[in-house]
Amino acid sequence: MRGSGASGQIRFGRILESRFKLEWSYHEETRIVTLDGRRIDVLFTIARPEHVDSDAGLVLYGFIDITNSVRTREKLQELQAELTHAARLSVLGELAASIAHEVNHPIGAMAMNGEAGLRWLDRAEPNIAEASDAMRRIVADARRAGDIVARIRDVALRRSPQQISLALNEVIGEALQCVRYELQSKRIRVLLDPAPGLPPVLADKIQLQQVIVNLIINGAQAMATVDDRPRQLVIRSRQDETGQLLVSVQDSGVGINLEHANRLFEAFFTTKSDGMGMGLSICRTIIEGYGGRIWASNNSGPGATFQFSLPSIIRDDRR
Ligand code: ADP
Repeated sequence: MRGSGASGQIRFGRILESRFKLEWSYHEETRIVTLDGRRIDVLFTIARPEHVDSDAGLVLYGFIDITNSVRTREKLQELQAELTHAARLSVLGELAASIAHEVNHPIGAMAMNGEAGLRWLDRAEPNIAEASDAMRRIVADARRAGDIVARIRDVALRRSPQQISLALNEVIGEALQCVRYELQSKRIRVLLDPAPGLPPVLADKIQLQQVIVNLIINGAQAMATVDDRPRQLVIRSRQDETGQLLVSVQDSGVGINLEHANRLFEAFFTTKSDGMGMGLSICRTIIEGYGGRIWASNNSGPGATFQFSLPSIIRDDRR
């Protein structure tokens, strides 16, 4: 049998290290080729029974065939990736109205500036300076429209996450841009309360935006039936005493039904007739993937607050 594949070779260096640390057991997952030529995944174990003089050389080696569980795990990961993609597209669907509005703005402005430019040129004595200004505004608006389209393409394309150093407050601002129209049309007021001077986080921008957009849209939906008080979202960023960064989205909606409190983050849990129940579950997968935590509670007044924490890049340097 040869050790190869999935996790590379059997790591003999690690085995020796474990032997010199006097550890009584060692295990690793690897892939081997069996005598009849099949590739199987195995849990390779070494036991050095304590009560036996190990210098006498009694060592038990084990190969446990875990091919099936490894396949199941891979399948689960694939399914999760597909679900994340589907939910991302559903977020995209919810944003469609917003996007149409955002792109319409610069396009309308371009038409107006084009007409104005033509009028300046059509005069008996063309005004080149004014016409150039109109052209410059057209170029700026064309860039704006291009940026919006690029942002949408980033969300829609199935691409692997890219972790970069991010300014959390900027990510919040961009997420808000995506849902601005949606919030306006539902008469929701947004109060932004960003903490100044936050250290950066290491994460994928689109994934973080997706989390924030999900929380905002959920908050907006929780306020859809509220007519006796202001519909208000408060979005805060903070750093806690352990260095973790916190983002909270507080609404003045119907609040969390306590019967459901334990299930909110479960996949497919929804109380909405057209809900998919994937939003919060995906938020949790994303946030926990970065070593953070996400939770929810009812406000002392009406509504609920959803918040998440993320480790900041420089947290460890401060300790
Ligand atoms: P969906 O929005 O498709 O229902 P989510 O996973 O985003 O899926 O949300 C799951 C459930 O959590 C919602 O159906 C709702 O019952 C509850 N929920 C989410 N956000 C809020 C909120 N801001 N206020 C009250 N309940 C909420």
